[in-house]
Amino acid sequence: MAGRPPKDNSRDKQYRVRLNESEDKILQYVSETTGKQKSEIFRNALEDYYNKVRVQEAIQADEEFDDWDTGHISLKRVIDCPYCGAANKCDFEEDCESWSEERQMGEEITYHFEWDWYECSICGKKMRIYGDICEYPVGAYNYEDITVEEVEE
Ligand SMILES: [Zn+2]
Repeated sequence: MAGRPPKDNSRDKQYRVRLNESEDKILQYVSETTGKQKSEIFRNALEDYYNKVRVQEAIQADEEFDDWDTGHISLKRVIDCPYCGAANKCDFEEDCESWSEERQMGEEITYHFEWDWYECSICGKKMRIYGDICEYPVGAYNYEDITVEEVEE
């Protein structure tokens, strides 16, 4: 059989990734809901991050890219009501403060929100939602920490 040598698709690099309980649940959940393998989810996230880093790197290094608006990450989240479990639509962009810090690959932006009397769209009970979502580099997700608490009325 003549022809091109086979592309080197062997995946012989291995990483052990440690997850906590909630990260493991998230991985299980996205794997089940999307039908993707867990390893595929990690690889996709890596590629996505890689591409965003490349774009920011180009913007920083090359004038040609100066006017390239990458946009920011979404601050939309589905928040489960702590009383009835209903899914609530929350777009923290509507009410948050943000600040940024200069890092190796440009700005790191933190969005902070404190929604003290958010009303569940189904049961009408009040909850407190607060936390941070962080973007780094611009256009790429970095981390988040969101807390939802019941509010005594
Ligand atoms: Zn509710």
